[in-house]
Amino acid sequence: MAPKRSIYETDLPQTAANFAALTPLGFLFRAAAVYPSKTAIVHGKTRINYARFAARVRCFAHALVKRGLKQGQTVAILAPNIPAMLEAHYAVPLAGGVLNALNYRLDAATIAFILDHGEAKFVLADREFAATLQAALALCKSKPTVIDIDDRAYTGEGPRLSALDYESFLAEGTPDYAGRWPSDEWQAICLLYTSGTTGDPKGVVYHHRGAFLNALGNALTFGLRPDSVYLWTLPMFHCSGWSYTWAVTSVGGTHVCLRKVEPGAIFASIEANAVTHMCGAPIVLNTLAHAPANLRRKLKNRVEVMTGGAAPPSAIIAAMEELGFRVTHAYGLTESYGPATLCEWQPGWPDLPLEERARLMSRQGVAYPTLGALAVLDVATGHPVPSDGATLGEIALKGNTVMKGYLKNPKATKRAFKNGWFRTGDLAVRHKDGYIEVKDRSKDIIISGGENISSLEVEEALYRHPAVMEAAVVAKPDPKWGETPCAFVALKPDAVGISGQELIAWLRGRIAGFKCPRYVVFGALPKTSTGKIQKFMLRQRAQEIA
Ligand code: ADP
Repeated sequence: MAPKRSIYETDLPQTAANFAALTPLGFLFRAAAVYPSKTAIVHGKTRINYARFAARVRCFAHALVKRGLKQGQTVAILAPNIPAMLEAHYAVPLAGGVLNALNYRLDAATIAFILDHGEAKFVLADREFAATLQAALALCKSKPTVIDIDDRAYTGEGPRLSALDYESFLAEGTPDYAGRWPSDEWQAICLLYTSGTTGDPKGVVYHHRGAFLNALGNALTFGLRPDSVYLWTLPMFHCSGWSYTWAVTSVGGTHVCLRKVEPGAIFASIEANAVTHMCGAPIVLNTLAHAPANLRRKLKNRVEVMTGGAAPPSAIIAAMEELGFRVTHAYGLTESYGPATLCEWQPGWPDLPLEERARLMSRQGVAYPTLGALAVLDVATGHPVPSDGATLGEIALKGNTVMKGYLKNPKATKRAFKNGWFRTGDLAVRHKDGYIEVKDRSKDIIISGGENISSLEVEEALYRHPAVMEAAVVAKPDPKWGETPCAFVALKPDAVGISGQELIAWLRGRIAGFKCPRYVVFGALPKTSTGKIQKFMLRQRAQEIA
């Protein structure tokens, strides 16, 4: 006899009335209906209200369709944080397309690789990056249709690549265009390439469902509200702006654009626009904390800042809190739509001395409410490591906010998804309270005389020295120990000079002797466009030290 079906499995059909594909597109049209005349986007002196934002997006989507964009085709964009970049995050998926936001610091050859690999049909480019795109297009196997973006706030040079400019393109569409809404929430929405320091970049594919959920996860965890004013200090090309492109709109908040991440412009915008929220890599926080006094402004109101993308040393968290910022620490990857974990505050933390709180907050924390599960797995056995704050394992994630996979790269996709988990390649411990703490990327860990040395732990100690502004520690090959730590240090502009030997001696009392760097190199540190220190370059430099 067939097993009896549950009473809940009959007569309760799934219909259009009670089931719809999750998509962040609805956020915009809801905000436009609820707050039509509220400022959605600020860009210099330009103000775009929600009704206009939505109308421009419909025009943009319609124009793409009229010019031949088909369902599931790619539209690339090369632009800083300007209104067109934000509009593209809605218009391209509304046209049924997939948005490929490009990192504008990439070289022409890499951009050409990405445009070909993603099979972009259109590419929109801000004049500032038009020369790079021109060089890239010369290398491309197939040529997408180019649309120039003439941003009024840009006064520099840049060739014209097309007869088509962004505003005239929008005028080709109508604001009544209904759009091609996804029938399936698993449909691709964005294509984002990882940095590719170990070969060709990989194209991470996002779906509508994940974008919807991570946006709401952000809004919840970061406390976004309709009166929130969000300053775009994080590039939108980086994990779709960690999904804040959609999160801010989901509450009907205000997006404040910013072409360049400079301390003077940031402080001025915070003051002029009464900014309440912003995100940035720890390095961005560090440049704010150490900005020259004439650029710094006293915050009138507390500004919430989410940091991640690299480990924020507790000294940076403490310096930001002293300036009046409240720091939320998050961890994630391109593959997880940006933040997947955060260091939730516990009752009692606000009363702790700043230094102690900063130490707790420099951990990567617990799962986002929208993530399925977070684990730290033993690299060999795949079993969860004990919550002892000492056993090292690999961070693994699962759930609806993990990418679909890598575009046209089944091998890499298969490698990333193992036993129902997405393996991040980051090494961490889990503390007694369940919070995780990243110790290193697996490729950054230093193995000296058979012992693991967490580069982050040594950096954390270095940042505590009053003269140190930035520090990075990498492995240097060593005939006796296999590898030995080598520190690269940038001193604060007003710091009294210090020698490498003095710094090493200072560290000796603070961390185990075998973890102390043998070499210290002073000078500026190379960084990526998202503010990460480029350790692979430092590793090369370390090798060259005699
Ligand atoms: P990439 O840095 O490779 O260009 P991602 O932006 O996807 O690409 O970076 C994700 C990586 O950044 C993670 O795998 C991790 O190594 C690092 N990361 C992100 N957030 C944190 C954090 N809060 N603490 C330490 N490392 C982090």
